[in-house]
Amino acid sequence: MSNLRRLGNSISVPIQPDEEGYIGRECPVDSCLGYFKITPGTGLKGPAPCHCPYCGHSGEQNTFFTQEQIEYAKSVAIRKLTDAIHQDFKSLEFDHKPRGAFGIGISMKVTSSGQQPIRYYREKNLETKVTCDKCTLCFAIYGVFGWCPDCGAHNSLQILSKNLELANKELSLAKSVETELADHLVGDALENVVSAFDGFGREICSQKAAEIHFQNMNGARRRVRETFGFDFAEELSVDSWVTICRIFQKRHLLSHKMGVIDDEYVQKANDPVAVVGRRIRITHEEISLAISLVETLGRRLFKGILMTENRARP
Ligand SMILES: [Zn+2]
Ligand SMILES: [Zn+2]
Repeated sequence: MSNLRRLGNSISVPIQPDEEGYIGRECPVDSCLGYFKITPGTGLKGPAPCHCPYCGHSGEQNTFFTQEQIEYAKSVAIRKLTDAIHQDFKSLEFDHKPRGAFGIGISMKVTSSGQQPIRYYREKNLETKVTCDKCTLCFAIYGVFGWCPDCGAHNSLQILSKNLELANKELSLAKSVETELADHLVGDALENVVSAFDGFGREICSQKAAEIHFQNMNGARRRVRETFGFDFAEELSVDSWVTICRIFQKRHLLSHKMGVIDDEYVQKANDPVAVVGRRIRITHEEISLAISLVETLGRRLFKGILMTENRARP
């Protein structure tokens, strides 16, 4: 029984990365079972617990195998076991020829009834690849936002910065093209700044079970204060706050009124040059300023909601 004995009492089955170097993982929490992938060799050095990017659950690395990986490992282990048993029996084969006229010959021939099939699998394609800016882990998730499986940092601020950077690139591009296209690019940059901030803000609030929209700055400021007990605009001067509110109002006009000034805008936007019925003017400098103000607001919001044990009030 030497082949069987050689296997010992545990069989280790290596799980290979896919062609892009990722290994699939699955959250063990029943209500989540979220699938994601990580690249071994990036991220934290040394043993660390694994965090689910979707629900934030953290646990031992070996509790995050996917069902398919477990089925595969089982099938490989069973194959190794049956092969070893087969070989061991094979070595016991014998064939006694009959002796003399009335001898009875006995033989044992070991045949296999087919090898155990291996349950191969393929890792799935995911939607967003993230490189954690805290620990350098490369991972892939469905959707856009998630917790880093290694260090547990949330990528929302990183995504916000990336989107603001894109808006900045649009602004630079606007400088090198003719007026009509330039206006369009500046307007589009504004749309992107607002939707990036709104998506970011909603995401981090939803992590604490709060639903707050961030397209209307005044409303958002009040809701955050009521829900989380801090002011995300405390680092802005009164002037800067008025400016960012006006810029967000401009975007509202752009998206819903073809950029034509209405009464609501005049009431809300604190814009000394606004005339009802005229088109709104949006300048390059304004959007550039909006980007840096949104960055400040975003950082404060992140710190106040995700970096403290700030719980939503009942
Ligand atoms: Zn999960
Ligand atoms: Zn990380």
